[in-house]
Amino acid sequence: MTLAVVGASRDGQPIGLRTAADGTIAELGPGVGAAAGDELVDGSGMALLPGFVNGHTHAAMTLFRGYADDLPLMEWLEQHIWPVEARLDADDVYWGTRLACAEMVRTGTVRFWDMYWQPGATARAAADTGLRATIGAPLIDHGDASGSEQLRRDAENGLAELDDSRDGLIAPSLAPHAIYTVSAESLRWIGSESERLGVPIQIHVSETEGEVQDCLAAHGVRPVELLDRLGVLSPRTVLAHAVWLDERERELIAAAGATIVTNPVANMKLAVGGPFDLPAARRHAIPVGLGTDGAGSNNSLDLLADAKLLALAQKHEAADAAAVSAGETLDVVTGALAPLLGGGELRVGGPADFLLVPTGTPELALGSLDAGLVYSCSGSVVDTTVVAGRPLMRGGVVEGVDEVVGMARERAERLGLR
Ligand SMILES: [Zn+2]
Repeated sequence: MTLAVVGASRDGQPIGLRTAADGTIAELGPGVGAAAGDELVDGSGMALLPGFVNGHTHAAMTLFRGYADDLPLMEWLEQHIWPVEARLDADDVYWGTRLACAEMVRTGTVRFWDMYWQPGATARAAADTGLRATIGAPLIDHGDASGSEQLRRDAENGLAELDDSRDGLIAPSLAPHAIYTVSAESLRWIGSESERLGVPIQIHVSETEGEVQDCLAAHGVRPVELLDRLGVLSPRTVLAHAVWLDERERELIAAAGATIVTNPVANMKLAVGGPFDLPAARRHAIPVGLGTDGAGSNNSLDLLADAKLLALAQKHEAADAAAVSAGETLDVVTGALAPLLGGGELRVGGPADFLLVPTGTPELALGSLDAGLVYSCSGSVVDTTVVAGRPLMRGGVVEGVDEVVGMARERAERLGLR
């Protein structure tokens, strides 16, 4: 199938787009029209945008939405989340992820980075929806090197599960949970496996100040220094959160070419003590993306809503309204500043992952589109979401949502979450 988008605009100028049968962009430009056999997408009155990239989430945690809110991070995790997660099966994860995917499609996300149990079920849910995903099973040995052998088996099983369900949209990763749940021995092994296999690493790091203090007490170095020492930092590494960094750690991240994914809403909701420092990361030219984190701690997967909070938190913290612009914020949301995440500007030969947004709504009719998207809108403004040349939503309608909602409710009930 090939698509042709006609009548749309970009930066106020007319633009047309044609997709190739392999899911890439075949033609893009002001004079591009439909060819014989193209399915026509009428972009009249709409702006053409790259899709959004959710750089850190636990998609199936939609099942935990509205459950055990308003608690501190460790109490929330240890007393409420982990005990239920111990009972999750593949169908729970599948339908929780389908619910997440429906919300992501609705709000313009075309690709997500996921860390969760039953990665094969996550992959099936993403593939059945048509979204791109980089997926990893959480790797945990409770900081005890004697569990390292089991962790290696878990990692290999996780990668094998993903291998079975790959269809070009799904990519595997290694996902050590955090330095406080994974031993130094296992982290060193994960670093070398990532290099050997060429797969990315996703890890939570320096989300709270307590994590930094504990790391200093246990290892005599800060978390990012520890990761560097263990060979975990590389251009394939995604560091989720990175709220509590010092300059030396930023230098290490920049030198390694690792990516930071900030999760401002989850950080604020769990009250981690301050925002990630975007201007400092920019000074070091560190690639930065945006994540929602799981719906248990956000509670939404709407990147445009989070983009506003990202920008406002930066301005507020710096006491400087110029600390970040709407344009830069949008670049963070589309993954344009973090090549590893796999998003960015639309280009011929690149993935046909794009959105259409009506420019005549009350929120967007006047003023700059970038500012409108970041400060005035939520993701519900998105009209059309296309991934790999396949329309996943048109006219604001995602097919099959009622079934997904019904099944996710059933699974949440089974787990005692409703
Ligand atoms: Zn997370």
